Amino acid sequence: MIRYDLLCEYDHKFEAWFRDSAAYDEQVKAGEVLCPFCSNDNIRKAVMAPAIASHKESVASTGRELAIEAAEKAADDMREGTDPQDAAHAFMEVVNKLQKHVEETCDYVGEDFAQEARAIHYGEAEERNIYGEASPEETRELRDEGIEVLTLPKPLDKKQAN
Ligand SMILES: [Zn+2]
Repeated sequence: MIRYDLLCEYDHKFEAWFRDSAAYDEQVKAGEVLCPFCSNDNIRKAVMAPAIASHKESVASTGRELAIEAAEKAADDMREGTDPQDAAHAFMEVVNKLQKHVEETCDYVGEDFAQEARAIHYGEAEERNIYGEASPEETRELRDEGIEVLTLPKPLDKKQAN
C-alpha cells in the first residue's frame, strides 16, 4: 500500500491509499478518486517539498574544506569528461558527507541562524559552528557583513522519483 497526498482541481488537500502507483494512475484516470470535499475527480499528487514551502536555505558556518573539496571534485570530473550522471553522483556523495559533517560538528539553531551567526561574529555569543535555516536575503546580508556562511545543496531525494 502506498499513501499519496492529493489535490483536487480546487486545491483541496486530502490523502488516499492505493495498492501501488499503477493502481493510483488507473483509478485517477477512471475518475474513481474523488475529492472528499467537493467530489471533483481532477486529482493530482501534491508536491512534497517542505524545504520549498519555507523558502529557507540550509546554511552552516563551517564545513568550508568539504565544500571546496566537493567543488574541486566536480570541476575535475568535468575536465576529465566523466559521464555527467557519474559526476553528479560523486558530487552528491561529497555533499552528503558535508551535510553529515555539519550535523555532527555544528549546533542546530533552526530559524535563528542569522541572529545567532551575528551574535557569534560580534562576540556576543559563544564561538562555535552552527547550522540552521536562513532566507537567501539573510544569507546575503551575513556575507556582506563578512560572516562566512555556507549554503548546503539539498540532497537528492530518491523517494520522490517516480
Ligand atoms: Zn475538492
